[in-house]
Amino acid sequence: MMQTHHDRLTLPGFVCAHTHLYSALARGMPQPPAPPRSFVEILEKVWWKLDRALDAETVELSALVGACEAARAGCTTIIDHHASPGARGSAVDGSLDLVAAAIARVGLRAVVCYEVTDRNGPDEARAGVRENDRFLQRVRSEPPRLVRAMVGAHAAFTLSDGTAEAIAEVAARHRAGVHIHVAEDAVDAHKDGRSTVEWLDARGLLDARSLLAHCVHVSDADAARIAAAGAHVVHNARSNANNAVGYARPGRFGAQLLLGTDGIDADMRGEAQFAFFAARDHGDAFDVGAALARGRRFAAGLFDAESLDDTITLEYRSPTPLSDGNLGGHLLFGLRAAQVRGVTVDGQTVMHDGALVNVDEERIYARARELAAKLWARM
Ligand SMILES: [Zn+2]
Repeated sequence: MMQTHHDRLTLPGFVCAHTHLYSALARGMPQPPAPPRSFVEILEKVWWKLDRALDAETVELSALVGACEAARAGCTTIIDHHASPGARGSAVDGSLDLVAAAIARVGLRAVVCYEVTDRNGPDEARAGVRENDRFLQRVRSEPPRLVRAMVGAHAAFTLSDGTAEAIAEVAARHRAGVHIHVAEDAVDAHKDGRSTVEWLDARGLLDARSLLAHCVHVSDADAARIAAAGAHVVHNARSNANNAVGYARPGRFGAQLLLGTDGIDADMRGEAQFAFFAARDHGDAFDVGAALARGRRFAAGLFDAESLDDTITLEYRSPTPLSDGNLGGHLLFGLRAAQVRGVTVDGQTVMHDGALVNVDEERIYARARELAAKLWARM
């Protein structure tokens, strides 16, 4: 797996199993005048304002910036959960093409979906379902080398029964997995008198292809139900702490547990380290190397491969013996700050000697700064 050569360490690329590249231009954004007092207020006052202000160009640019940063962080597969209703739903159609093409242009693997929700009314819910359906059809008829798709849904607490059924129908027809937030906050723990996990199960949204982000407020019985279904759970330890939604006790999800950054960045080393520290702080255990390896296996499955030929090369001079067996210790206590100098995806060069070879980063970032200021003004 691991190779060393003259202070260079080569590893398989990291997989981020849950993120939102649409938030890439939110960095440093002015905070709401009155600070949000709850998880729902964080959504209402920050993220649902941002996704409403996005248009085609900011969707594309957010994805380009997010993908450049992912490459620099050594993350070679981005499993994205996209939302851009835009003004009156104007930025939904075609948004997945923009996100997928931007990630692939940088040279990374993209697994995209559109986050369907009823929070903006039935027309926009239908537009979201259509976008997933259309894009899945496109990817299925002619699979691009670096792109796959899932069916996205926001969360049970913003979905109607009818929309949930439409999502399940699209997923079944394309044999695709559903990517959805589950019980991130207590507000999403129950729906219609049953647990959210039971509700999803009853609507055909819980199976071996499902990707469930967070699962903080699920009971142990529901954790067992998720395991029995064979669904994967994405732990987003930093995001959970940032939103103060609670500790997910990720050990409950065993061999189905993956790691994601939930839009914070694409720093999987940072995410893994924080997940480890959070586990220690809660008297829990967390195997960083195993969680990252499961992410790679999950991504390989989406690309119908045994394993992915994606590598990253880090500048790392180890002061102690280094092997596959103790790589977890190096990841936690040494590799955090190591610079990524090289990236290959599907055997092709994405970064050489610290430079991204497929895109003009300077131009992308200059345009991003310009458009981010306008985006914030629109919000
Ligand atoms: Zn999320």
